[in-house]
Amino acid sequence: MTDRETALLASVPHQLFIGGTWRDASNASTLDVQDPATGEVIRTVASAGAEDGRAALDAAVDAFPAWKSTPARERGEILRRSFDLLTERAEDFALLMTLEMGKPLAESRGEVTYGAEFLRWFSEEAVRVQGRYGPTPEGTGRAIVSQHPVGPSYLITPWNFPLAMATRKIAPALAAGCTVVIKPASLTPLTTLAFAALMEEAGLPAGVLNVVTTSESSAVSEPIISDPRLRKLSFTGSTQVGRALLKQAADGVLRTSMELGGNAPFVVFEDADLDKAVDGALKAKFRNIGQACTAANRFIVHRSVADEFARRVTERVAGMRVGRGTEDGVEIGPLINEDAVEKAGSLVADAVERGASLLAGGSAIEGPGTYLAPTVLANVQPGSELLREEIFGPVLAIAPFDSEDEAVALANDTEFGLVSYVYTESLARGQRMIDSLETGMMGLNVGVVSNAAAPFGGWKASGLGREGGAEGIHEYLETKYTLTPDPAA
Ligand code: NAP
Repeated sequence: MTDRETALLASVPHQLFIGGTWRDASNASTLDVQDPATGEVIRTVASAGAEDGRAALDAAVDAFPAWKSTPARERGEILRRSFDLLTERAEDFALLMTLEMGKPLAESRGEVTYGAEFLRWFSEEAVRVQGRYGPTPEGTGRAIVSQHPVGPSYLITPWNFPLAMATRKIAPALAAGCTVVIKPASLTPLTTLAFAALMEEAGLPAGVLNVVTTSESSAVSEPIISDPRLRKLSFTGSTQVGRALLKQAADGVLRTSMELGGNAPFVVFEDADLDKAVDGALKAKFRNIGQACTAANRFIVHRSVADEFARRVTERVAGMRVGRGTEDGVEIGPLINEDAVEKAGSLVADAVERGASLLAGGSAIEGPGTYLAPTVLANVQPGSELLREEIFGPVLAIAPFDSEDEAVALANDTEFGLVSYVYTESLARGQRMIDSLETGMMGLNVGVVSNAAAPFGGWKASGLGREGGAEGIHEYLETKYTLTPDPAA
């Protein structure tokens, strides 16, 4: 640990942020945060109990009337100031994320830019919430359609993008006039705590943003979700947990947004520009050490170019530097924990057992730290588990196809529908893929699609609702239709 790292970690708040006050958990519990590159405990933070969760919701409920009445321009300006502060402190936030999550520093910097962009985008959207006014078709009345903040919202975020997953929810919620309680993942609570301190500095009134860090997610969340004062649940994480939370939310008929798991197909047609396809493949697969919901999970490659594609990606993967994310030139950091290494490793073993060829990697790298060597598998056979499950690790698995219809059938053969990637030089084929692939997002000759100005979200079991874009703020708004008599009557 360098002096800079030690000083940065010491500067991060370690308490719950409730009603504008930093405080310990009421039962004095704590949770340890580890650096996955070393296994070392780098900070200990408060671990909320159910009572603290309730107090955080109380604070959000109390702050709601004043915040929703705050002019949209003022709300937007606080978001814009937060954008400026975050941009100024990009290096600190990037290092903090690398320390608690493991991704290479260059990628953490990219996440700060992406995460900050939601603050800027929704600072601009805050003032564009509009309604409609017009005569009814019969001419007997006037219809007014207006938009209103949905109310106190509960936000649950995962560990893989500690900053961007938080700002992608906080920014639209606050822009819409909602107050929030956010619960970051227990593996990566530090970035959210540091971000809350930044928003406090940007002038956010007490109670508008409340943070509960906890090792007891379920015990803290259940009473919040079942409280009738809560009006919205926004969750990003696994489909399994999303399903369980939807069941809890059903009792209160709670508005929900769900950003869940993915199993992205990456289809390379025989007419693709192979150099571009290989570049896109490496980004779509190895960004975030393969731990992204948007990570390409299945490389579906036309049989006539499959060997050449495999040869080129293997050559590039062999040259990838693995190590602690803080070191220069590292492209592959550690996986988040031992379980993640075991899970990805067992998916590789299953594919090989069923007949896939292992072209690179395939095994864990001895610690300290939880590393899996970047892996390439070719000729993956139908029925292999990694075609069905999210790998969530640096494993590039190639399966060949013979016809366009077969490629579409393979790509859609999953319960998930978050994102797909297609490489083809044919415009007509690209257009056919837009119509055929059952995903909420698509990269057409592009390996990364995320953009704050675009609606991010999935079809099928990948989720409900959209984050970002013009759509993002509507997740936190309710529509009201009012009928008034014809003024001439
Ligand atoms: P996870 O296990 O589902 O956890 C996500 C969040 O839910 C964490 O804050 C976790 O807290 C919390 N949680 C877990 N069980 C809970 C419960 N019973 N009640 C309330 N909260 C609970 O997912 P993850 O492993 O952190 O993240 C990886 C998954 O997220 C992948 O499937 C990935 O595809 C998905 N993801 C989706 C998107 C998207 O936009 N679609 C983006 C990023 C990630 P603890 O940490 O305390 O368990």
